[in-house]
Amino acid sequence: MKVHEYQGKEILAQHGVAVQRGVVAETVAEAVAAAEQMAAEGVTLFVVKAQIHAGGRGKGGGVKLAKSIDEVRQKAEAILGMQLVTPQTGPEGQLVRKVLITAAEDIAHEYYVGVTLDRARGQNVLMASTEGGVEIEEVAAATPEKIVKVWVDPAIGLRPFQAVEVASRLGFEGAAFKQAVKFVRALYAAYEQSDATIAEINPLVLTDDGNVIALDAKVNLDDNALFRHPDLAEMRDEHEEDPLEVEAGKHSLNYIKLDGNVGCMVNGAGLAMGTMDLIKLAGGEPANFLDVGGTANAQTVEAGFRIILSDPNVEAILVNIFGGIVRCDRVARGVVEAANNVEINVPLIVRLQGTNAEEGMEILRNSGVELESAIQLQEAADKVTAALGQ
Ligand code: GDP
Ligand code: MN
Repeated sequence: MKVHEYQGKEILAQHGVAVQRGVVAETVAEAVAAAEQMAAEGVTLFVVKAQIHAGGRGKGGGVKLAKSIDEVRQKAEAILGMQLVTPQTGPEGQLVRKVLITAAEDIAHEYYVGVTLDRARGQNVLMASTEGGVEIEEVAAATPEKIVKVWVDPAIGLRPFQAVEVASRLGFEGAAFKQAVKFVRALYAAYEQSDATIAEINPLVLTDDGNVIALDAKVNLDDNALFRHPDLAEMRDEHEEDPLEVEAGKHSLNYIKLDGNVGCMVNGAGLAMGTMDLIKLAGGEPANFLDVGGTANAQTVEAGFRIILSDPNVEAILVNIFGGIVRCDRVARGVVEAANNVEINVPLIVRLQGTNAEEGMEILRNSGVELESAIQLQEAADKVTAALGQ
């Protein structure tokens, strides 16, 4: 699960990470009130920052400096409600519903620091660079030697000398060095204790007056661990998520929208991947990944059809179920029921294998639902391409 910058900063601050102060606002009036409050505490320079689940906001015009309350009003008016396009959003951009008003910092230098899981090593990796800021992707691609990496055994955790190593390789000295060490340790603790999959600060800055603080925060949380963090689960912002994926989540379906034209309904992630490969080999393009899970019943199958059919790109549907725990006759009844309740206006190819496959096929044959059945996977894929007229 992704969270907004302001929420990421909240999580980090709870673990002692030094973050820039800021107040989130959903209206221009709230933005102005936040700035007035900060001004009363001596802040003279502000930053108005679009809150969307995508980075590269600076490049897209979603991060603006404001030199007065009036400018905060103007920038908030311009940014709230805008369709922000960044290198990380699609070309259609994302609607901005919230802005973060921060006290602007005077930057002496911009660094990058992040923690994530290195799957190949089975360890967490701390990454840091003196070349932080909006061009870090180019730095990583062109001059990877400028990224310092320190691996952390999750069973041991971050050892103090590793935080010292990162801070010193970034060139921090004196009081700022101590702050940087503390920062790295707190960042790692936040990552670990909130079950994050990534906690990334870009930029981490050294301010003109010698402080080390986070100006930005990207925190992604592990969906599978959210049950341990009800407070963090509440940070979900469904506006930022694909509506079909949100709907699928409500039915416990694992659905990810893709760009192709063949809708797939499959049980099990591995079989779903295999089915998508086969569709591609046969010349089609999968429109989605959909794992109906091991407990598919008529309701989930129907929800699956509704979701697949809400995608206007879908020109054919392939149902590929291996009956293990889930019995094929149940799935077949689900398909028939769904076909009675939802108008399936594209060719439907169904492959059932495993427990009660014969009974399942019998139910489908007698149902009057217009569909093609297949026994072999290849046969199913070929029938899909034939249906597409390719
Ligand atoms: P991103 O573009 O989505 O990564 O948004 P960031 O929060 O990283 O902001 C983009 C850039 O705006 C940063 O790299 C900074 O250069 C600049 N910026 C953000 N906050 C401040 C601030 O308080 N002071 C100054 N001088 N620049 C800032
Ligand atoms: Mn950033």
